[in-house]
Amino acid sequence: MNAVQVSAAKPPNWDDWKWQCAHRITTVAALSKVIHMTQQDTQNISKCLEQFRMSITPYYASLIDPDDPKDPIRLQAVPSIEETYDCENDMADPLAEEGCSPVPNLVHRYPDRVLLLATYRCSMYCRHCTRRRAVGEEDRFITEKNLQSIFAYIRFHTEIRDVLISGGDPLVMSTEKLEHIIAGLRAIPHVDIIRIGTRVPVVLPMRITEELLSMLKKYQPIWINTHFN
Ligand code: SF4
Repeated sequence: MNAVQVSAAKPPNWDDWKWQCAHRITTVAALSKVIHMTQQDTQNISKCLEQFRMSITPYYASLIDPDDPKDPIRLQAVPSIEETYDCENDMADPLAEEGCSPVPNLVHRYPDRVLLLATYRCSMYCRHCTRRRAVGEEDRFITEKNLQSIFAYIRFHTEIRDVLISGGDPLVMSTEKLEHIIAGLRAIPHVDIIRIGTRVPVVLPMRITEELLSMLKKYQPIWINTHFN
């Protein structure tokens, strides 16, 4: 399903983000239909999948050059055998976030800003992810109890003026669930900046719907942090 094939035969629901999520590529068999793999590639990817999940939206897979093993998009999305190697300097939590978590799903390292982990689910699991200890392990969303604890913590800590909603990818949540989080933060007077960390504009752009934008507009300004490579 490379770019040429997609333009020739795009499934009718291609522009529906929920269809894209439901048809994510998660197995070697499905992957072999969109990129060319050697027998060694197949073995390596299968071995890696014993440890780490793969998930690639059909949209993002369509951007891969199926014949180029070094295609930069492929390298971000397709597992490689190097991921299974244990190295002396490997760290489960390379950004040392666990030690800065005063309440579950919250990281408070710098005085005036916090990281709110809204979900451990993503539409695509990046091979370079630094939160693999949690992301992709379980498709969990934040519980209401933890969210209320976070709101209480931020209300108490009046020095916090910047909240980055991240995960996982918060934009794989329903618009309703995301609004619940944003509305709760906007109701705290000293929260000035609300940011969303997401790769959705890159790997699932059809998620940027009119419905989502209308919701976000109610709580402006909202900042989006993304990364393309
Ligand atoms: S979108 Fe972010 S959290 Fe999700 S796998 Fe990629 S880098 Fe990790």
